[in-house]
Amino acid sequence: MPISRNASLDAIVIGSGLNGLSAAITLARAGRSVRVYEAEATIGGSARSLSLTRPGFTHDWGATVHALALASPFFKMLPLEKYGVHWVHAPLPFAHPLDDGSAAVVSRSIAETVESFCSRDARAYRSLIAPLVAQADDLMEALLAPIGCNHPLLMARFGIRAIQPLQRFVQRVFTSEAARALFAGAAAHSMLSLHQVATTGYALGLVISAHAYGWPVARGGTQQFTNALVAHLQSLGGEVIANTKINSLRELPDSRAVLCDVTPNELLRLSGDDMPRRYVRRVGAFRQGAGVFKMDWALNAPVPWRAAACMNAGTIHVGGSLTCIAQSENEVTEGRHPAQPFVLAVQASVYDATRAPNGQHTFWAYCHVPNGSMVNMQERMEQQIERFAPGFRDCVIASSVLTPQALERGNANLRGGDISGGAGDLRQIVARPVFARDPYATAMDGVYLCSSSTPPGVGVHGMCGFHAAQSALAKTLR
Ligand SMILES: Cc1cc2nc3c(=O)[nH]c(=O)nc-3n(C[C@H](O)[C@H](O)[C@H](O)COP(=O)(O)OP(=O)(O)OC[C@H]3O[C@@H](n4cnc5c(N)ncnc54)[C@H](O)[C@@H]3O)c2cc1C
Repeated sequence: MPISRNASLDAIVIGSGLNGLSAAITLARAGRSVRVYEAEATIGGSARSLSLTRPGFTHDWGATVHALALASPFFKMLPLEKYGVHWVHAPLPFAHPLDDGSAAVVSRSIAETVESFCSRDARAYRSLIAPLVAQADDLMEALLAPIGCNHPLLMARFGIRAIQPLQRFVQRVFTSEAARALFAGAAAHSMLSLHQVATTGYALGLVISAHAYGWPVARGGTQQFTNALVAHLQSLGGEVIANTKINSLRELPDSRAVLCDVTPNELLRLSGDDMPRRYVRRVGAFRQGAGVFKMDWALNAPVPWRAAACMNAGTIHVGGSLTCIAQSENEVTEGRHPAQPFVLAVQASVYDATRAPNGQHTFWAYCHVPNGSMVNMQERMEQQIERFAPGFRDCVIASSVLTPQALERGNANLRGGDISGGAGDLRQIVARPVFARDPYATAMDGVYLCSSSTPPGVGVHGMCGFHAAQSALAKTLR
């Protein structure tokens, strides 16, 4: 085995996603030597930017919207601005167009957000959201911790609502279609049926983050953020080696610890017979989530949303009413392909002009599909966008399709198109990838898991990598 107490290299990280880089930075900041191996040519995993359509257009291959990066206690510690990260905020974090031509919006201000609600819903929204926004830093610290035991009173206040299935929750709390749809769109980020427990937690977390931090993008593309992390790591003495797929832990040079920014399945492949059978059985029970079908477009104009408010938003939740979105997400959970899919869209170039030639735009969107789906969703997605932005297709100069298979080819962690590192239902929030006091330490001495398949899960916050590195520092790299 390559794990050796006497190795001159302290740690190897497999995978340069933001959790892998965060793990490496945490170790380097603690004075440990660290090397990162990445299979792909470009560093960053789901946080890369590529020219997917035409020269001059910068598309984020995966993540664009960085509410969680601003909320992350780990990223707050890093000198990101020094390495060129510049956050750009849209006037509105997100908008939700409706069939009558109006849109529900979330602005940074709670007062502005409730302006279009009826007075009962405005009151309900304020009393639900305002107290949690006031304690957003503490709440995010608790939600992004391995086991949410920090701030127990606050977590109890959040949890009593968060645990509820979204559909039932909004039907009880709100009367208007606009408020219900707004929460349904946010909850659908979970990639779960809105009847499932804990889906309200996703909506609350995202709405609170929108008010407290905004939903910014990194100027010039998410790659700028990734490159800043790499530059910081290198300044601390860390190394990053691209184009090197690791096929077995046994092929690695000797080190005292190995941290794996990979899926649990890939961890078992890499460790082979060296992993104790009991752990193999437990990790083998971890389930992938639904997949996504993603499209990127180069446009000759901004998307012509019928609701003017959508022009000011960074993210647009396209799908209409609570009923429509709930139906779409149910169908995916049941293994079907919705005729009218919920489409999650991002228009970063509207407020970050560096991403496209003058006057032109980038735009991306994905819809949820059953894991491993082979169905082409392009027509259905474009029809959904046309439903709220008639004339959208006339703006398209070029497009790119990333099927679940193409996503997995570009990043082995996206198994079957699952962008969450494993289903994010309540069971797998608690047991990620196994139920354990330290879910980062595997059953092999010195080998750790640090990807989004560990707590706190999906999103660009680096906290999986940070916590895994803390575990390695405490147990192996003392
Ligand atoms: C289309 C899409 C849109 C998203 N949008 C957002 C968003 O707007 N906001 C947000 O917060 N989150 C978003 N996410 C989720 C977010 O990007 C991820 O949760 C996060 O980046 C995961 O980071 P990670 O380090 O765990 O893994 P990844 O980013 O998946 O990185 C894993 C890395 O490991 C490498 N690797 C795997 N196996 C090996 C091996 N054997 N040898 C060497 N290297 C290996 C892979 O090539 C990859 O580079 C999005 C994801 C996708 C795909």
